[in-house]
Amino acid sequence: MGAVRAYLDWNATAPLHPAAREAVLSAMALPGNPSSIHAEGRAARGLVEAARRDVAALVGGEAANVVFTSGATEAANALLRAGLQTACALLPGAAALAGPVIAARIEHAAVLQAIEAAGLPAGYRIALPVTADGLVAPAALAAALAEARAVAPGQPAMVLIQLANNETGVIQPLAALAAVVREAGGILVVDAVQGPGRLPIEIAALGADALFLSAHKFGGPKGVGAIIFARSEVRQSRAFIAGGGQESGQRGGTENVAGIAGMGAAARAVRAMPEAPQNLIQLRDEFENRLNHLAADVEIVGKGVSRLPNTTCFAISGLSAAQALIAFDLDGVAVSSGSACSSGKVRSSHVLEAMGVPAAIREGAIRVSIGPETTRADLDRCLASLEKQLARRRATAQSATAA
Ligand code: PLP
Repeated sequence: MGAVRAYLDWNATAPLHPAAREAVLSAMALPGNPSSIHAEGRAARGLVEAARRDVAALVGGEAANVVFTSGATEAANALLRAGLQTACALLPGAAALAGPVIAARIEHAAVLQAIEAAGLPAGYRIALPVTADGLVAPAALAAALAEARAVAPGQPAMVLIQLANNETGVIQPLAALAAVVREAGGILVVDAVQGPGRLPIEIAALGADALFLSAHKFGGPKGVGAIIFARSEVRQSRAFIAGGGQESGQRGGTENVAGIAGMGAAARAVRAMPEAPQNLIQLRDEFENRLNHLAADVEIVGKGVSRLPNTTCFAISGLSAAQALIAFDLDGVAVSSGSACSSGKVRSSHVLEAMGVPAAIREGAIRVSIGPETTRADLDRCLASLEKQLARRRATAQSATAA
């Protein structure tokens, strides 16, 4: 996509994969409702169920444990506000049986705001700190679980930890964290939104009881996502959206057949490209080396720990992210500052704040996130724009000194 513009904002949305576009268009041509028993209905049902198998396969799960939603935000709200049910316990949502919720401070707003909206009693919202590298430490998690036990003895806590951060790309050591959660009798829910296409995901290996995805982060259409439960005993305690009993009673409303078919096609496409993360690492590392040459004082957030192969979050002193974004855009380069805000406003990042990143760096943090279609020419264009911006900054500094 080098010629016209360089799209380097894949963590906000990945471009629609051609196979997903094709699947969406052919699904839209079908007239049937998947709940109808006639041939047209069965054809639509066939698409939904095929996509369910493909989405399950993407994370090593079972089709019967997939619930389609309108995206990750709905998934988080469903799990937190309807509550989770396991064979032995009911977790938040059903007021009398609600347990505490522990969430990392760096979770996406979809999770943090869903917790806010869940109406939990005082003391039931426990914020889990992260290290300066953006990692959840097993000891901090154990302490949070102990706090949860003290607040609500005998009630299992729901723990929410993301697989990888959308702003920094930092990957959490989930298997180790899951062991701590299991030991304390809690339930682990993983926001795996940034995983597909960047990392292999196996729900069992992560140790998650449930995880959720959003199709548009890996080549599917916007507005569709899924919850994948690890086992048949884990379910929502009720439908978050009440209606006609679709999705095995977990999510009412006629299924978004075209969106779901597109998500399934994108999941198949990701599985067909197992080498993609390795290619991304090469491009990303080359980009970061060149960034280091361009500005010796560049700070790359999370550079010492395991990160997504496609994400670079960096800051250069004296460069304001708000101004840089405009300059990049004018030069035909789409990047982002911290998280993409719904209002288009640039806000200080709660993720970087939780990591203790100083305000000066937070205000300059720029996120470049790439994907399998990204070319060297795209990154050249980004670096050329940055070079121009740095030259302007130097010129301004010089004239200020001369004045
Ligand atoms: N979780 C993470 C880590 C994300 O990056 C996003 C999207 O930016 C979401 C959740 C929310 O996804 P959606 O807006 O598709 O519901």
